[in-house]
Amino acid sequence: MNVNRAKFRQKLLRWFQTHRRRLPWRENGNPYRIFIVEVMLQQTQIKTVIPYYERWLKAFPNVRALARAPLDRVLKLWEGLGYYTRARNLHKAAQIIVRDHRGKIPSDAEVLRSLPGIGPYTSGAIASIAFGKPVPLVDGNVARVLSRVFYIRKDILAPDVQRQFYRLAERLVPNKNPGAFNQALMELGSLVCIPDMPRCHVCPVKSECRALAVGNPSSLPVKSKNVRVQKIRMAVGLLRKKGRVLVRRRPDHGIWGGLFELPGRVLLNGQSGEEALKQEFKEALDLRVGIQKKVQVIEHRLSHRQMVIHAFSLKSSSRRNTLRPIGNARWASEAELKQLSFPVPYQKILNASSHYERTQ
Ligand code: SF4
Repeated sequence: MNVNRAKFRQKLLRWFQTHRRRLPWRENGNPYRIFIVEVMLQQTQIKTVIPYYERWLKAFPNVRALARAPLDRVLKLWEGLGYYTRARNLHKAAQIIVRDHRGKIPSDAEVLRSLPGIGPYTSGAIASIAFGKPVPLVDGNVARVLSRVFYIRKDILAPDVQRQFYRLAERLVPNKNPGAFNQALMELGSLVCIPDMPRCHVCPVKSECRALAVGNPSSLPVKSKNVRVQKIRMAVGLLRKKGRVLVRRRPDHGIWGGLFELPGRVLLNGQSGEEALKQEFKEALDLRVGIQKKVQVIEHRLSHRQMVIHAFSLKSSSRRNTLRPIGNARWASEAELKQLSFPVPYQKILNASSHYERTQ
């Protein structure tokens, strides 16, 4: 069975006109807004993104406001969305747009791709949705729809299969209304051509779907075996002095780059949290600490890591009584803790510990 592309486009676009969800960024196709939301949506679900998007636009209503904002403020507004490299890249990209493009978001997909954090998907989304360019895009939803419609029984994460999806999407995207078409394809994947039980009976393109004709849409897409999840155990310490908590800024690169944390370290095989914390505070901060008690155990899942974080309250054995910063660590007041950006598990530990403090 061959897929009739003209029919496919027509049916999909007609369906989208009546079934599209009303989303804040769809009401106003301003390129800056599309740019922000597409980066937010890269690894985060729509319902999580909406309040972040709204807060973001209030704080940084345009690209110039974002470019001149301090990075700490940008990270604070991103707090809880995860994958913080996206926020740092957005900030850098805004500065490049102001410096090299007179503050205007570029409309060309290739120029967009030269900006930090913008890959083929995001450049395709901005170029097609904000500027009406017939550029394809492929995200997880689109890959699933295409694998079923064209009956592609190969691992969707393999690079050559990804290229195949782009070629197919390129041939499908129309010159007229490319942005609506791309959004329709993603919307179909979110609402109808869903992962486990596709709703083929209500699908607008069912007459063009090869997987449905063969009779096994749920067997697609093919995904290679999941990458093994690595388990990581950590110990972190809550050390208070004069009503303040010792917090440390993480290096700019790597996981949670540039955010604040409670000092601590990953536990080696067989190592106890107490022992690791004493070593960490001594070696990294030149502080001698004793363990008061374990206050919390938090589990947190990152894409391929399962973290188990043991939080301990500590007491200082040093005589030093100043509140001077120690390298990249500082003593933060309760008010400052609210201003600084922490990854989600640290926020949970701090929230529980301030509650504990208040109820003592
Ligand atoms: S017919 Fe079923 S499998 Fe095919 S695109 Fe529609 S929902 Fe997906």
